[in-house]
Amino acid sequence: MAENVKVAVRVRPFNERELKMKATCIIKMHGKTTEISDPANKQGEPKKFTFDQSYWSHDGYKEGPDGYLEPASTKSPYADQRQVFKDLGISVLENAWKGYNCCMFAYGQTGSGKSYSVVGYGANRGIVPETCEKLFQGIDENVKTADKSREQEYQVFVSMLEIYNEQVRDLLNPSSFKVKGGLKVREHPQKGFYVESQSIFPVKSYDDINGRINEGTRNRTIASTNMNATSSRAHTIVSIKFVQKGKNDTGQNMTKTSIINLVDLAGSERVDSTGATGDRLKEGAAINQSLSSLGNVIKALADQGMGKKSARVPYRDSKLTMLLKNALGGNSKTIMIAALSPADINYDETLSTLRYADRAKAIRTIAVVNESPTE
Ligand code: ADP
Ligand code: MG
Repeated sequence: MAENVKVAVRVRPFNERELKMKATCIIKMHGKTTEISDPANKQGEPKKFTFDQSYWSHDGYKEGPDGYLEPASTKSPYADQRQVFKDLGISVLENAWKGYNCCMFAYGQTGSGKSYSVVGYGANRGIVPETCEKLFQGIDENVKTADKSREQEYQVFVSMLEIYNEQVRDLLNPSSFKVKGGLKVREHPQKGFYVESQSIFPVKSYDDINGRINEGTRNRTIASTNMNATSSRAHTIVSIKFVQKGKNDTGQNMTKTSIINLVDLAGSERVDSTGATGDRLKEGAAINQSLSSLGNVIKALADQGMGKKSARVPYRDSKLTMLLKNALGGNSKTIMIAALSPADINYDETLSTLRYADRAKAIRTIAVVNESPTE
C-alpha cells in the first residue's frame, strides 16, 4: 500500500555562536505544529507547518552525570534521544523485522543537529547505535525463545559510504579513496542502483557493527567551515542488511531481507553563508548540486503524490538521488528528520529547511515485504 514519507522536525539548543551573538529563538512548537517568525517582520504572522512529529529539544533539559540530556521535569516538553528513538528508531526496527526496506535521512544546515539525531554524541546516542543495539538484542531474544523446528537463522551485514564532491567513497575500504572519480554507481534491472565493488561486512554483535561504523566515521572527509569546525561536508550513508531465514507455517524454507539506509546529509546551507572560499567553495558547489537534485526529485515526487501528472523524476542527476531512489520513490518505508537551528540569525536557512520538509510530506512510497523461498 502506498504511504507517505514520515517527516519529523527537531529544534536544538542555542550553540555558542548564537549565544555570543545574543540570538533570539524564532521557533515555537505546539503538538505537531512548528511555527517560525520572521525576525525582520516582528508584527507579521508566524509561518505554520505541520509534521508527523515536531520535537522541541531547545530548552527545559538537565544534564545527567554521564552527560545525557533529559527533560528537567515531568512537565518539560524537551524531547530527548530516547524519545526520538522510541518514535522513529523503533518503527524502523519493527519494519525491518517484517522484511520492509527502511530509510531515514536527516536534512538541515550545518550545525543544526543532523548528526546528533542520527549518530549522537557520547551518552546521547542517536538512532544508528540504538537501532543496531536493539536489533542484536532482538536477534538474541529470538534465538533463545524460537521454535527450533523453524530453523531460524539471522544474518546482519553493514556497509558505509560517503558522497563527497559527487564522488562515492567506500568508508570501510580506504583504498577506494584513491579510485579516480570515485566508485561507479551502476544500475541493476531488479535491484536498482548500487555502488560497484562496495564492501559489505557480516557482523555478529552490537560491538562488531559499532566497531565497523566507528571505523567508517574515522575515514570520513572532514573540513571546517565557519559554522561548525568539525562538520562533515559529505553525505554519509550507513546501510544495514538484515536477513532472516527459516521455515514458514507450511515447512517451506523462506528468506526475508530488509535493507536499512541511515543517511546523514551534508549541510544544506548556501555556500556564502558559511564564509567558504577556495576549495571549500568548490565542495560547497557540488554539495549543493547533489542537494538541489534531491530537492528536484522530492518536488517531482511530491507533485506525483498530490496527483499531478508530472514530468520524469530526475534521479540520474546526482549520485545521492540515484542511491536514494528506492528510499524516495520505491520499495521503502521512509522517514525524514529535518534539523532546525532555533536562532533568528539563521531564519532564511531554517525557513528553507521547513519548506523542504513540508514538501517531502507529500511523497508516497510503496513498501513490500521482501520475502521469497530460500535459494
Ligand atoms: P550537524 O550534523 O547538523 O552539522 P550536529 O548534530 O553536529 O549538527 O549538532 C551541532 C551541535 O549542536 C552539536 O554540538 C550537538 O551536540 C548540538 N545539538 C544538536 N542537536 C541537539 C539536541 N537535540 N540537543 C542538544 N544538543 C544538540
Ligand atoms: Mg553532522
